[in-house]
Amino acid sequence: MSILTPPVAPTLQDNHEILDTLANRVSQCTQCKLAASRIQTVFYDGNPNARLMLIGEAPGQQEDEQGHPFVGRSGQLLTQMMASVGIDRKRDTYICNIVKCRPPGNRKPEADEMMACSGFLQAQLSIVQPAMILLVGSTAVQGILKIQQGITKIRGKWVDYLINTTGNQMTVAQAMPIFHPAYLLRNASMQENSPKWLTLQDLKAVSEKLKSLR
Ligand code: SF4
Repeated sequence: MSILTPPVAPTLQDNHEILDTLANRVSQCTQCKLAASRIQTVFYDGNPNARLMLIGEAPGQQEDEQGHPFVGRSGQLLTQMMASVGIDRKRDTYICNIVKCRPPGNRKPEADEMMACSGFLQAQLSIVQPAMILLVGSTAVQGILKIQQGITKIRGKWVDYLINTTGNQMTVAQAMPIFHPAYLLRNASMQENSPKWLTLQDLKAVSEKLKSLR
């Protein structure tokens, strides 16, 4: 087997069970200081067997209250924009964040917090084994690709990302950085080349790739 050949993935039911077990462990985690101020951990939403994984920054207030990622205003905007190009949130995506607990005041997660939580994210990647990853906003880009390049320069570009699978093999996913929807809420213009217009073009490219995988 090639080093980049994905091994047989767990079944949908298996993925649910493995992720539920992991979610239970995460809910009791106190590995970083974010544990002290959270209402609850926010682990994932969507389809555990999706080919597309969305990775955001951190839960916000609404996510902390409801226990699901991307359910606030910015999450709703991203959900609507995906739906407009044929990407169904529940069917087509697995959604999670770099850190599973809300940073106080919605500040960016700090480096030690991202490091402490990275094992849980890597476990999610290993279990779901997505073919594509959307890195939503600059913190997700820094947390996953370990680069400091501005989101404006790298959004919309596909980057290979190696995933260590549950079978201890390597598989490659195509990752694309996109603007964070919170930024799009503050820049709502749909004029050509505006951030929102560019994000729609990025999502159209993702949708096309997704269709080719169905
Ligand atoms: S952010 Fe992650 S590492 Fe920190 S307490 Fe929450 S689950 Fe644990």
